[in-house]
Amino acid sequence: MSSVDRIDLLSLTPEELRAALRAHFAARRQPGYRAEQVERWIFQEMARTFDEMTVLPVAERNALGEAFRIDEPEPATIQVSGDGTVKHLWRLADGELVESVLIPTERRLTLCISSQAGCAMGCTFCATGWGGFDRQLTAGEIVGQYRGSRRWAEENAYGPITNIVYMGMGEPLANRKAVHPSLTILNQGYDVGARRITVSTVGVVPGILELAGRPEQFRLALSLHAPDTDLRREIIPLEKRHPLPELIEALEHFDDAGGKRITFEYTMIDGINDDLTLIQPLAELADRVDAFVNLIPFNPIPYQPDWGPSPKQRIRAFESGLSDRGVAVAVRETRGRDIDAACGQLRGHTLVQIERHSRTATSGDAAPDPIPADLA
Ligand code: SAH
Ligand code: SF4
Repeated sequence: MSSVDRIDLLSLTPEELRAALRAHFAARRQPGYRAEQVERWIFQEMARTFDEMTVLPVAERNALGEAFRIDEPEPATIQVSGDGTVKHLWRLADGELVESVLIPTERRLTLCISSQAGCAMGCTFCATGWGGFDRQLTAGEIVGQYRGSRRWAEENAYGPITNIVYMGMGEPLANRKAVHPSLTILNQGYDVGARRITVSTVGVVPGILELAGRPEQFRLALSLHAPDTDLRREIIPLEKRHPLPELIEALEHFDDAGGKRITFEYTMIDGINDDLTLIQPLAELADRVDAFVNLIPFNPIPYQPDWGPSPKQRIRAFESGLSDRGVAVAVRETRGRDIDAACGQLRGHTLVQIERHSRTATSGDAAPDPIPADLA
């Protein structure tokens, strides 16, 4: 069987995995407990090959290798920042590159993972957006970043991964076919609590509604970045398809679904979205869906050479303005700046260097245009 015909075990939910393995072993007249044995080796031992599954007879390991594969990405580079942030650049089976970032803080170890190779959304402040869309990741490629990062963290005394955020490359809700199973696999297979997993979206309304419909309490982060539709459409092309009023309605639905927390991400770009008059409308939106607001200083990207982060005082003014209006707010420091650990930056730089990207960034309207229908 060629590698494409073999089923990738890392892409299966625990239920699917058990069913596939039971059928496999039944056809080979093997006892039923073999399926549970392999399941344990996948989720608990994080085996990368069938040869590692030493509880199985050699003939069974070989037979598994003919029917299935375990496609874990290989690290292409690993960079450790002065502040302890770790960036993995993963090489996928077809040579495609994606990244994930481990962010240690006093009480947590957060893993930021990618959901697509590139991104089709074309937000003008985002390096990944400027690089364009390459392809969807499979559930196994998303989960593989967790497995590889967890292994690295264990080997390097970083401790267990406590939180996962879908804030690496790509728009997770434009890859729901893989992201939904990946959430199930991380939650049920690897035992990461749903409330410790956050899906970040730029506003894919059908995806928000789908996530609201799931019984688990996965968290949602909305990359808001502007509290009115005219300003937002200048920096986020998807705003034209799903404008703020529709988006907020979907968030209200998510909020009503019970026990589910919403965070607004607000990247502060000097002179673009940091006018003091925006504080009031931002507070009103946060109040409507009971959102927590994260203010993030813009991380400069080569595609927008004239854009910089808002000055510290401006960020503080937003923080106190929101807080005075009763909104829960925090200013997020940029981590791992020395290794470009923010948002598709490493791969972005690699592409710039290798391909000498032809796109020049001048103004907001240079944003890549329409998002293919199947991606939003
Ligand atoms: N596509 C999803 C998740 C990946 S982007 C989304 O947009 O939400 C993760 C976060 O990084 C988003 O909040 C995004 O707006 C932010 N981001 C992108 N480029 C940035 C930059 N140059 N500086 C600061 N934050 C940025
Ligand atoms: Fe894609 Fe998110 Fe970057 Fe926008 S901010 S281009 S949705 S990765």
